Amino acid sequence: MLRSILLTATLSVAGLTVPLLAQRPTEPPRLLDDIRFLSDDRLQGRMTGSAGADSAAAYLARRFSQVGLQPAAGGWFQSFTVGRDAPAARQTQSGALTGRNVIGILPGRDPVLRNQALILGAHYDHLGLGGFGSLDPDSTGIVHNGADDNASGAAALIQVAARLAASPPARTVVFIAFSGEELGLMGSAHYVREPIYPLAGTLAMVNLDMVGRLRNGRLIVYGARSAQEFPALLDSLNWYAGFDLKAQGDGYGPSDHSSFYSAKRPVLHIFTDLHEDYHRTTDDWQKVNYDGLKRVADFTLSLVTALANRPRPLTFLDMPAPLATQTSVPPVNGPTGYGAYLGTVPDMTGAPGGVRLVGVRAGSPAEKAGLRGDDIITRIGTTETPDLQAMTDALRTHKPGETVEILVRRGATVTTLRATLGTRGG
Ligand SMILES: [Zn+2]
Repeated sequence: MLRSILLTATLSVAGLTVPLLAQRPTEPPRLLDDIRFLSDDRLQGRMTGSAGADSAAAYLARRFSQVGLQPAAGGWFQSFTVGRDAPAARQTQSGALTGRNVIGILPGRDPVLRNQALILGAHYDHLGLGGFGSLDPDSTGIVHNGADDNASGAAALIQVAARLAASPPARTVVFIAFSGEELGLMGSAHYVREPIYPLAGTLAMVNLDMVGRLRNGRLIVYGARSAQEFPALLDSLNWYAGFDLKAQGDGYGPSDHSSFYSAKRPVLHIFTDLHEDYHRTTDDWQKVNYDGLKRVADFTLSLVTALANRPRPLTFLDMPAPLATQTSVPPVNGPTGYGAYLGTVPDMTGAPGGVRLVGVRAGSPAEKAGLRGDDIITRIGTTETPDLQAMTDALRTHKPGETVEILVRRGATVTTLRATLGTRGG
């Protein structure tokens, strides 16, 4: 593939002229280098248990060490097994897989608070060569580089670690690059079962997942309602950062923070929103907004610093778990929902008079009907769909196998498409 050849050539030129890490340790690590390494075609999409994922893990451990973090007693890696019978393993036809979380520790400087931990996490695994989890039809065998999902978060993780290591806060900060996220939050679930620091003494978990596509300064922080103190804290930090900040929601969601929220810890998920390249072969490093990513890393640094230095614990706010099982893919109308299945991937944040799609699932009824990214669904059957809830309700009134008319706004035109609804998982 041409893109791959070009990329390799550019990388080796950069390697000759600029050493990967400058000799001056005070210089912040370069986000661009970390993202380009992790989302290079050579890493083959970093599927959990693959050689590419192991290369990524080794790289992350080296970077953690370079910026001044320490390994846990058992070393940099925390391994876990994805059983041969796990749905993900069956779908990838790879049998039992070994995933590796990469863990780096920055000991706190307060003699008492250092026994408590704050976790900053970002998953580094992605979809490998497509098939499982991909939203691109016919993309099996093509590298899914996952530059935004989630090389961006892993790079920001390193950036925050480097800058925090220069001046450690009161509490211990545990930096974790998770694996197994795309297969169903497996690395974070494993950590929650076998934490390095007891969860009872873990103040909170902050998750960086998909932070490389800042648009119009809009930053989403989910989990804002998982601790009483979060809204005011986020607001005050944003006074300096100046984002169009959407701080909302409980701690459940389609990423690793959900594992910690289920274990009753306050969580925050920092996110620059879905986009048309999400879970497709086009999620490449060239599309990352580096100035935006730097701003997100700055904001995360200020957040982690404030949390790790606060003298008192947070007030956890509990919420009942949602009905649908959360996976790493937005669940609405996905195979994890219930009722008739359409297979759309909606934009989770805005409703411009209807439900805007960021894409459709490969082989889904939505794809067969001709729906695509940027379409805005305004009616299903006879039901208007001004927002996601209305659309979910509308689908629930139909049965699998039924054919429904879907009214779609596409640019300046309005089209009616016909979709034959499927079944869950079908
Ligand atoms: Zn993903």
